[in-house]
This record gives sequence, C-alpha cells and structure tokens, in this order.
Amino acid sequence: MENILILGSTGSIGCNALQVIKLHKEKYKVFALTANKNVDLLTEQCLEFEPRYAVALNDDANQKLKKNLFLSNSKTIVLESVESLDWLASHIDTSTVISAIVGAAGLKPTMAAANSGKKILLANKETLVMAGELFVKAINHSKSTLIPIDSEHNAILQVLPQNKKLNYKSNGVRKILLTASGGPFRTYSKEQLLKVTPKEALRHPNWVMGKKITIDSATMMNKGLEIIEAFWLFDIPASDIEVIIHPQSIIHSLVEYIDGSTLAQLGNPDMRTPIAYALSHPERIESGVSGLDLIKTKKLDFEAPDLNKFPCLGLAYRALGMGHNAPTILNAANEVAVESFLDRRLSFLGMTGVIEQTLSEVASTAADNLDQILQADTLARSVARRCIGRSLQ
Ligand code: NAD
Ligand code: MG
Repeated sequence: MENILILGSTGSIGCNALQVIKLHKEKYKVFALTANKNVDLLTEQCLEFEPRYAVALNDDANQKLKKNLFLSNSKTIVLESVESLDWLASHIDTSTVISAIVGAAGLKPTMAAANSGKKILLANKETLVMAGELFVKAINHSKSTLIPIDSEHNAILQVLPQNKKLNYKSNGVRKILLTASGGPFRTYSKEQLLKVTPKEALRHPNWVMGKKITIDSATMMNKGLEIIEAFWLFDIPASDIEVIIHPQSIIHSLVEYIDGSTLAQLGNPDMRTPIAYALSHPERIESGVSGLDLIKTKKLDFEAPDLNKFPCLGLAYRALGMGHNAPTILNAANEVAVESFLDRRLSFLGMTGVIEQTLSEVASTAADNLDQILQADTLARSVARRCIGRSLQ
C-alpha cells in the first residue's frame, strides 16, 4: 500500500490524480491532502478519501475546514501553516508525493520530499525551472525517485528504454521533440495578439487546466518552461531539445534515436493517462481514459513554432543558456506577468516585455542553495512589478 500526499489536491492535476487513485484503492491510500482556499472541494475530498491529515493554507479556509470536518465526525487532522507542507512531504509515513501546487509555492515542499528520499510524481514544473540543479542533486543524494506527470515528459519517459537512468547519452538518443498545441492563438497575427483578453486566453483548444498554465500555454511560455524541465529531467543539452507544434495534442512527445527511429507516445489529451503511468511506473494500470479513435482523428498536423509571434520560447532558451539562477528569474517574472494579465493590468504582448526586461535587469548569480534561489525569486518579482508599474504610467 502506497501512502500518498497530494500537494494541491483541489487543482486540475490534484482532482485527476484522485480520480485515478479511486480506481485503485487497494494499491494507493491517500495519506494527506493540501490546498490553498477551495475549502468546499477539500472537505468533499477529505470525506471521500479519509486522509490522516489535511491542510488549507488560507486562514479562513482552514477554520472552515476544521468546522466542516468536525461536524461530519471526520478523523482527519487539520494542520495549518505553510511549514506543515514540508512536514508532510518528509513525514516517515509518506511514501509518494504528488507535487501539484501551481507556481513557486510548490518549490519548498517538493524540495523537502526530495531531501527525504520520497517517490515524487512531479506536475509542478516550476520546481525544476527554479531550482533544477539543486533539486536533481537532492534527488540523487537521497535516492528519491522522480517521475514527471507533465504529459510531454511523461511521454518521453514512456518511449525511453525502461529501467535505465533518465539519461539520454547512454540510450542512443539523438534528440527529443516536445509537442505543443500552439494554444488558442496559434493562427493569430501579431496585430490580433495585441487585443486578446484573459477570457480568450483562458479558452485552451484541447486541455482543461488551471488558469496559470492555461495562460502559459497561450504565450507558449509553458513550452519554454518545459524545455528547462526536460533539460534537468533527462540530462539533455538544450540544443537537442526541439519544440514542434502539433495542434491536435494526440502525440504527447517524441524521441529520435541515432539509428533514425523516432518513437512517440499517443493518447487522448487527458492527464489521467500520465498520472496513472507516473503512479504505477514501470507497470501500467487503468486510468479511466478511453483509447484513441484514429479513424475519427483522421490526421495529425505539425508545424514549426513561430518564435517571432511567441518570443517566450526564445526567452526560455536564453535563460537556460545564461545558467545560474536565470531560469528562476524568468519564472518569477512570468508568474508576476501572468497575474497582472489576468487582473487586466498588463496586455497579452506586454507579458513578454516584462519577462524580457526582468531577465535583462536582474543579474544572474549562483543558485547553490534554496535561500539564494528564493532571494532571486523575490528580487525578480519586485523588478517585474516595477516594469509593470512603469508601463502603466
Ligand atoms: P490549479 O490552479 O488547477 O491548482 C493548483 C493547486 O495548488 C490547487 O489545489 C491550489 O489550492 C493549490 N495552490 C495554489 N496556490 C497555492 C499556494 N500559494 N500554496 C499552496 N497551494 C496552492 O493548477 P493545475 O493546472 O492543477 O497545475 C498544477 C501544476 O501542474 C502546475 O505547476 C502546472 O504547470 C502543472 N501541470 C498541470 C497540467 C494540467 O493539465 N493542469 C499539466 C501539466 C503540468
Ligand atoms: Mg505539458
């Protein structure tokens, strides 16, 4: 029986993970659930899955969760404070951590899991973007297992030779190809992009996801973050990571080998598939997702990404090339830009400008420990906010 902690259980990934776990109650026990504010959903999840612990970070939500669970005679213990996430991630009875908090808030508890030798199923790509080197070192040092949930990286894991280290060099890999849907504005001109609203940007053609990653998909920063994620996960140089637009989101990514073979993983765009594979790797279990109907799909299209229209991709390669904590700076500026866009304080194209300016203004320095990384994150956020303030004047 695996004891599972879900960090961010009320989000899109968290809910999908619980759906898969529900199909395999004999194998997986929900040990703890954490969320920020969505107390109604968290209460429902606690009553259904009966975890030993639950956390709602927001104070009001926490009070309400305690009251709801008390009134329902639940045995779940409600913890509070952000430190309880680290405590749960390193708890002796936690065997597996599903890291599904959105953004930089996921970094500390995911690092705590890595330092404690846990099996980590990683959706929070921001952990690898912000602290890739440190995180991978911690994983290796504590002998943790790291399995990506992100559909592209999960696809790559599926088509790499199994039972080997996630290292491309020894596996005869020439390059990896990350597929991208291109988001809702793939066919827009630059002029049309000038006017797009948050409502339009939140309408992803193929996936239903949290707001932040949906905006990242519209700017293609999501693919940029995924390049950095792949770099650390598979120990592959940036020059061997290619992005290809595939609007149907049926092929989730590909690996090209030195003999000219290209292997791909295909499936309906449904995160329960990569979540199920991450949970059971290297075995396979039911996910609740139906198989592909290729006759209905008819065709699969591909095109090269337009770096001029979607400069965030180039910015991610640039940050990766700069090294040190440049990816931390990129990530922080992006989070601030996305928040401001959603609050209608920044235009769609303005997001790129803020990220670019922040990356140029904040010096990239060492990223040897968590404090340095969190300091860079704070500094980059304040610079990004200043850029936005200037653009509003
Ligand atoms: P979401 O917004 O739907 O859910 C986020 C979860 O994190 C919620 O449970 C929320 O309560 C919690 N949370 C938010 N802010 C928090 C904070 N400050 N502290 C603690 N908890 C907080 O997001 P999502 O779409 O599920 O994405 C989660 C992560 O998975 C992201 O890193 C995203 O990039 C990655 N991911 C998501 C998908 C997807 O299909 N949704 C696919 C690949 C990767
Ligand atoms: Mg992805």
